[in-house]
Amino acid sequence: MADFIKRAAEDIARAKNIVALTGAGISVESGIPPFRGKGGIWEKFDPMEYAHIDAFLSNPAKVWQVLVKALIDVIGRAKPNDAHTGLARLERMGKLTTVITQNVDGLHQAAGNTDVIEYHGSFARLRCLACRTRCESATAELSRIPPRCACGGILRPECIFFGEMIAPEHLMRSGKAAGACDLMLVVGTSAVVYPAAGIPEIARNAGAKVIEINPEKTELTGSISDYLIRGPAGRVMQQVLEQLERLLQVR
Ligand code: NAD
Ligand code: ZN
Repeated sequence: MADFIKRAAEDIARAKNIVALTGAGISVESGIPPFRGKGGIWEKFDPMEYAHIDAFLSNPAKVWQVLVKALIDVIGRAKPNDAHTGLARLERMGKLTTVITQNVDGLHQAAGNTDVIEYHGSFARLRCLACRTRCESATAELSRIPPRCACGGILRPECIFFGEMIAPEHLMRSGKAAGACDLMLVVGTSAVVYPAAGIPEIARNAGAKVIEINPEKTELTGSISDYLIRGPAGRVMQQVLEQLERLLQVR
């Protein structure tokens, strides 16, 4: 791993336009469980049963009870970890431009990144199925499940459920950022959920280097990515940044 940390620091030192693609794994050290991989909540539940839009529409109370309420609670307590703050530091150093995240937890913005594409939406806001009025999850009345709008309509999280379309604006901006970067950091994603999983390939085809940070191999490892730094995102990112700062001081 030490060799890859050094190599990543050197690649970052050379890069001028870094884009990060992040998934649930980056928030594991903040206490939010991923859907897949070890400790993922899908070892216990079937995602299609809970995270599909058809499941939500046919039984909103069940999906709120099992998935949404639990995630809102855990997100409400979570703080950015060294991986989130590391990406924010890369932005302040003028290296990183954009974070494309599949996460719905708002931790990149909390860490200080200013250009965050929330590819799969956010759990920070709820929207009424009937009148489309929006409200903040943090201040919504969630004691009654499913929670309701003042108009009586059922509230849904403003995320993209399986079976829903990604916002065209997010697709376009992500494709543009991926096609323009010279280095993509792919952090904590199993790269099986499309179209997000196709973003590293756009970067690679445009000539960018692709570096993965993940404790496990993914669909990208050995094909799309140049190399994988195996380990938890926070610890790896902290070591990469230490090495990078040493390198930049020497120059
Ligand atoms: P995933 O659940 O499919 O995969 C998680 C990945 O994280 C796995 O490859 C796993 O090996 C890796 N991982 C586990 N611990 C890690 C660590 N400490 N550091 C780095 N990587 C680690 O996640 P996904 O590919 O992002 O896709 C599932 C969908 O679930 C996403 O679209 C996202 O919207 C949603 N989701 C979001 C959150 C969140 O907002 N924090 C949490 C769970 C699921
Ligand atoms: Zn309403």
